[in-house]
Amino acid sequence: MRIVMSVSALREVRALWGSESVGLVPTMGYLHEGHLSLVERAAVENDRTVVSVYVNPTQFAPNEDLERYPRNLERDYALLAPFNVDAVFVPDNGEMYPQGFQTTVSVAEVTRYLEGERRPSHFAGVTTVVAKLFNIVQPARAYFGQKDVQQTVVIARMVRDLNFPLELVVCPTVREADGLAMSSRNKYLSPAERSAAPVLFRALSLAERQRKKGEMDAESLCQQVRGLIESEPLASIDYISVADGETLQEIEGALPAARPALISLAVYFGETRLIDNVLI
Ligand code: AMP
Repeated sequence: MRIVMSVSALREVRALWGSESVGLVPTMGYLHEGHLSLVERAAVENDRTVVSVYVNPTQFAPNEDLERYPRNLERDYALLAPFNVDAVFVPDNGEMYPQGFQTTVSVAEVTRYLEGERRPSHFAGVTTVVAKLFNIVQPARAYFGQKDVQQTVVIARMVRDLNFPLELVVCPTVREADGLAMSSRNKYLSPAERSAAPVLFRALSLAERQRKKGEMDAESLCQQVRGLIESEPLASIDYISVADGETLQEIEGALPAARPALISLAVYFGETRLIDNVLI
């Protein structure tokens, strides 16, 4: 496993691989089993695997947690060691945004809702850095988690619109035994908040069960999810959404029978904002 810190060095390594297929797993590090499930799949499906570890400052708003975002590269390298990873790309900010940098890649429509509504500059930061990573690594496949569902929809749009010659692979959300979606940010939770946080998965599971029982009303599903989360005193709801799984537009009235609906939410536990979702 090579540790590569510059764009030019990554390009040299990539050139040696020629026409071999490369799988790319973009991450912000502080890896957990969710990230590793993407790495494992990339290593199986491609000749070469590149994992990027980069806490991208342009996707954080000034009031967000860029400074305190957990970082530990030695820990990340140790977690990646058992997998068949060819290169870990760990650029610094000067490498990704050198003096004079002034280009942004932005996706219009699907960034307006959900996370994009609450974090207006977030997705332009994501698409810009991911476009750069695609150009630097030239992967045949890129791996993203369902946990960040809007990110997958936004990047899929960018890939189609800008003709990136690669396949986007969306992998299922990996959860702790009690249902809490794995996230680097779970580290921020106090013990009491950590015990309270699985209410999110219980609420999403409730919606899934109600849908299977025939509940088709978006408002009613939303209220049931809200009711369960509000029963947890440490939880403070940012939003709960029932939206079209493809356009991400809010559903009013009945769920469409033939298309997946996306129930997604963002909830604070203290200062920590957790997101989760389920497609029903
Ligand atoms: P991050 O380091 O949080 O930017 O995440 C890097 C990639 O890992 C993104 O594609 C995430 O969606 C994915 N990911 C994060 N948490 C999970 C999880 N619990 N299960 C599956 N994928 C995840």
